[in-house]
Amino acid sequence: MASYETEHARDAPQTNRARRPDLSSLNALITEIAPEARERRTREHAVPVPGDISAAFTQFADALQVMQRENDNADTDLLQNMISNLLATAERPPTEVKGVDEEYIAKLERVPIKKVKSDADCPICGNEFREDPHPLLVRLPCHDSHIFDMECIRPWLLLNGTCPLDRVDLAKKERDRKQKQLDDIKKNAAREDEEEEWDGLYG
Ligand SMILES: [Zn+2]
Ligand SMILES: [Zn+2]
Repeated sequence: MASYETEHARDAPQTNRARRPDLSSLNALITEIAPEARERRTREHAVPVPGDISAAFTQFADALQVMQRENDNADTDLLQNMISNLLATAERPPTEVKGVDEEYIAKLERVPIKKVKSDADCPICGNEFREDPHPLLVRLPCHDSHIFDMECIRPWLLLNGTCPLDRVDLAKKERDRKQKQLDDIKKNAAREDEEEEWDGLYG
């Protein structure tokens, strides 16, 4: 018996919709260089291999070049900026990738397809959201209208951490937020210690 997926693929209408290049090997590579992968690495590979970081940035630039070339609807200027940015990083790979983590991606606001304008498209691949048979859309916290295909924005956020449209550094904001949280916890702990000392004196 055919699986749901094959059944579905056969029934899907043939449209001229430009397809996104397959990003699965890129996603696997990103998992390897993500900061969270550090615990899984052996001691001698405590930081990702610079070659792996370069490869991830180059692979994503290649994928964006395909989108730029094959989709008439694509915003070529935006893509060109993203591609130049990725290639520059590939040339001088950082020791740690400065993007957001998977936890951040998981918490991004999902946008139901019914809530977007009928002709709205993904700023990265240029495909209209409604033409996607299985749309998965996310909104970035920087602006209400900054909505993307999850598949398109995920690698960019993991590698780069900024909004491609307004360049708000979401990764830095998230790092600052977490740091403040840590500082608050430390401050509270210090205050509690102090209170205990006073209790000890007068108790
Ligand atoms: Zn897209
Ligand atoms: Zn934005």
